[in-house]
Amino acid sequence: LLEMRGVVKRYGDQEVLRDIGLTVRRGEVLALIGPSGSGKSTLLRSINQLERTDDGEILIGGELMGFRLAGGRLHELREEAICRQRLKTAMVFQQFNLFNHLTVLDNITLGPRRVLGMPRAAAEAEARRHLERVGLGHREQAYPRQLSGGQQQRVAIARGLSMRPDLMLFDEPTSALDPQLVGEVLGVIQDLAREDMTMLIVTHEIRFARNVADRVAFMEDGVIVECGPPEQVLDDPSDPRTRAFLREEA
Ligand code: ATP
Ligand code: MG
Repeated sequence: LLEMRGVVKRYGDQEVLRDIGLTVRRGEVLALIGPSGSGKSTLLRSINQLERTDDGEILIGGELMGFRLAGGRLHELREEAICRQRLKTAMVFQQFNLFNHLTVLDNITLGPRRVLGMPRAAAEAEARRHLERVGLGHREQAYPRQLSGGQQQRVAIARGLSMRPDLMLFDEPTSALDPQLVGEVLGVIQDLAREDMTMLIVTHEIRFARNVADRVAFMEDGVIVECGPPEQVLDDPSDPRTRAFLREEA
């Protein structure tokens, strides 16, 4: 479903992503781990073109992100067209990013109504299904400030689902949460994994990565150092950099 080849991103003369190659198959969960500043968020943001990359190719469902083919040539897309491509993905952020002046229900239906053009009734019916799914069916009229961080993050996940993405991107979805609230969010992500949602999850929760991910990628200094099944990367890493990172996390 997702394929990245030779992806490079620079900020000035700093190369933040170097020759990134990564694939995620449909229904697969990939956990991305690595030290702070290694480029994990940049990688995630380049997938949905919140960051324009400097080289390489990113394909989602076979479609080249940021470009279209016409007359045998590639043309760079304008922002508006990129927004349409971006809809293949939904992103869940560390800080939830809910609209504080909107109820839970309106937070979720805004995108489907405004962007997908769904009628209100249909959007609300679907939103309620997603709210049930994340265990918040009873809070649709609440405002974000009336909810705990864990509940807010679950609303953010329901909002992502409501856009019917092919691929869900999570950027450290639990690192802003009090420890006792982490489990409820990870549980929801685990349920989605069981339902074969395709997900790329940046996380510091090594144990969670082990449980939920089909494959784990370890990143350092803009490079994917190794990528493979959790038993291999987490329990028997082949690269000394991965070993050093896991020792520090443990
Ligand atoms: P963390 O675990 O702390 O979230 P990360 O792995 O997500 O780290 P990134 O946020 O992707 O790392 O940052 C990678 C590198 O790119 C860092 O050196 C960072 O300083 C740099 N960087 C990120 N965004 C920008 C920007 N907008 N302008 C310049 N440099 C940036
Ligand atoms: Mg980050």
